[in-house]
Amino acid sequence: MSGIYIHIPYCHKACNYCNFHFSTSLKSIDSMIDALCKELAFKKDYLEGDIIETIYFGGGTPSILNQKQLELLFLSIHESYVVSDNAEITIEANPEDINEALLGSWNNMGINRLSIGIQSFQDHYLQWMNRNHSSGEAINSVYLAQKNGFKNISIDLIYGLPNLSLEQWKEEINTAINLNVTHISTYCLTIEERTALGKLVEKGTVQLISEDEVEKQMLHLMNTLGSVGFEQYEISNFCKPGFESKHNSSYWKHTSYIGIGPGAHSYNKKNRQHNIANNALYIKNIRADNFDLNTTTEELSETDRYNEYILTRIRTKWGINAMELNKLLPTNSDALISTVNTLCANEFLYLQDNFYKLTQKGRLLADEITLKLMV
Ligand code: SF4
Repeated sequence: MSGIYIHIPYCHKACNYCNFHFSTSLKSIDSMIDALCKELAFKKDYLEGDIIETIYFGGGTPSILNQKQLELLFLSIHESYVVSDNAEITIEANPEDINEALLGSWNNMGINRLSIGIQSFQDHYLQWMNRNHSSGEAINSVYLAQKNGFKNISIDLIYGLPNLSLEQWKEEINTAINLNVTHISTYCLTIEERTALGKLVEKGTVQLISEDEVEKQMLHLMNTLGSVGFEQYEISNFCKPGFESKHNSSYWKHTSYIGIGPGAHSYNKKNRQHNIANNALYIKNIRADNFDLNTTTEELSETDRYNEYILTRIRTKWGINAMELNKLLPTNSDALISTVNTLCANEFLYLQDNFYKLTQKGRLLADEITLKLMV
């Protein structure tokens, strides 16, 4: 079982907090599609003939693509890979792009999961973030997708926004629940250097809310979504039973995947590949058949494998397999074993059927705990 991730590095506008790789100049899209198709063919042996169970169009903003551009990508996928009949095929979409014609074409192409970037239901926050849609458009986009047959819909929300009160956050969550979606991803606002928001924070123009407030918002999120049947299967991801993102879960379960496009990563259990995060160079190198200039390959050392196992598994409901941990632990690991024991004694971790998992208290401090367990 393997997956394909295709990065579409274009957006209508730059959101103030975002440090993903994208460009707001759309003029190279058709050349980019040609390059992505060529990379799909070039990388076909990386997965050693594995059947493709998940395809994920991420970005950037994949809903920027028109029908013809997406069809070309599907054609290239099917020319070089065997795709399972039941494959989960996701497209990330922004509310302002969603309309009946596009939804119809996605349905016809076999796309069966939408991940809609809503972020907030409050217009003043959407404007502050420089999002390209209103709250009304966000809500309508979900209704329209449901009306057009999409049953597996995820939405993204951000908490920890400046001045966001617990009461406002409660309303946000209630609105999300009332939309009857199957999956909700939530992220705490993080300040990244070299973003518009990073600069505002540096200048002191934006005041962030306290860690205590953030913790209250996260706790409320976990308790409320849990009480209406959502399972927190990963720190930031909640789903109705049976609606986990298979694609993202496969990253956490160390399944192989190829990443196509600028800034994308690939992984096949032996090495990890990183694509250059520059649209113009990516296209130029592929046009000249210089595929290797676009990709850096990193062979994974034992320590890398251990760290990666911790980093990906600790945040999930599946947790860390104690036997696997023993196998992967680097030599001189007495200090790590004692850290695990201390975390269990202090109720940040618990052991269940041979798997170490985060308690609710541990989930609130997942990043700190992960760092403690890495070498
Ligand atoms: S639409 Fe998404 S990828 Fe594009 S700038 Fe906004 S958050 Fe970043």
